[in-house]
Amino acid sequence: MADLLVVSDAGLYCPAGDFWIDPWRSVPRAVITHAHADHARSGCDRYLCAAPGKLVMRSRLGGTVPIDTLRYGESTTFNGVKVSLHPAGHVLGSAQVRVEHGGQVWVVSGDYKTAPDPTCAPFEPVRCDVFITESTFGLPIYRWPAPEIIAAEINAWWRANQAEGKTSVLLAYALGKAQRLAAMVDPSIGPIHGHGAVMKLVRAYRDSGVRLPPIDAVPARAKRVGQGRALVIAPPSVAAGGWLRVFGEVVVAQASGWMTVRGIRRRRGFGTGFVLSDHADFPGLVSAVEATGARRVLVTHGSSEAFARFLRGRGLEADVLATRFTGEQPDRDDAGDDDDVGAEADPDVPGPDMSRPDDGAAVDSAPRGELP
Ligand SMILES: [Zn+2]
Repeated sequence: MADLLVVSDAGLYCPAGDFWIDPWRSVPRAVITHAHADHARSGCDRYLCAAPGKLVMRSRLGGTVPIDTLRYGESTTFNGVKVSLHPAGHVLGSAQVRVEHGGQVWVVSGDYKTAPDPTCAPFEPVRCDVFITESTFGLPIYRWPAPEIIAAEINAWWRANQAEGKTSVLLAYALGKAQRLAAMVDPSIGPIHGHGAVMKLVRAYRDSGVRLPPIDAVPARAKRVGQGRALVIAPPSVAAGGWLRVFGEVVVAQASGWMTVRGIRRRRGFGTGFVLSDHADFPGLVSAVEATGARRVLVTHGSSEAFARFLRGRGLEADVLATRFTGEQPDRDDAGDDDDVGAEADPDVPGPDMSRPDDGAAVDSAPRGELP
């Protein structure tokens, strides 16, 4: 039986339905899993995404290009191929794409996480014959602490910085992670400020009905914003520029799954890293694959070779699927920030080889909190 989905020059393609999923070139019909720029590129004639993500998609794509939507679980057909979208738990509106035709069901995960997130619908496993899964963190070393533990760590760090009159700067992807962090922290500690790239998505989240605490933009030419009491949420690229000067003395930390790896924290030069990812950790990936009941699994971006090998060891038919998706990157901004901070992820640069985390650097057994 022919494969329902294949990788073409323009991206993941369904020949029977004549549509693409997260194409990396302009195509007539794009079904989009979520609005991060390695998955949602401009230039297509027509888009389909999950309804909760429409405003985020519009803020990413701009203009007036048609964006059709489906509610989670609702279906449509293209040339007799049934397509439905199901929550992926990654960012607001993120979806897995279920494709059914000729007695076969394929599911494309997009990026996903199984941990709870107050800003988006939780991941829902979908039964299928073939599951195309991401594997950004597909090595057993990646295991996330519970989000409430990370929230308590961030609150304690913010308070400690405040006691010394220093502004706390938390670096995070502008789409998804920044809003999730704002929703996780204790807003009674002090004012929260957002970089322009973050504020643009904060507006889209609020307009989509997501509840967030008060977050203020940083006024132009302001001095000593927050008076050493604020928490500032900004994309990682601001660490290298002069943007942080308006806050006076700052303490900078990053929130990312890569903060598990001590060498990556050290290379970024941060005293503190908070282990918080919008991707599944290794146990999350394994449980997600199991829950689909799929006998065949195609693994893409991240530790795909290692994760496919692991799945084969468990008796599944598993292979690597070569795509241009990048997932969360240890040393680059999210591509979603490119409008505002000039940090488009290069789809041609392969992701890090996570079979060698940070060139053999030690991985913490308790990978949180202050560095030695
Ligand atoms: Zn993503």
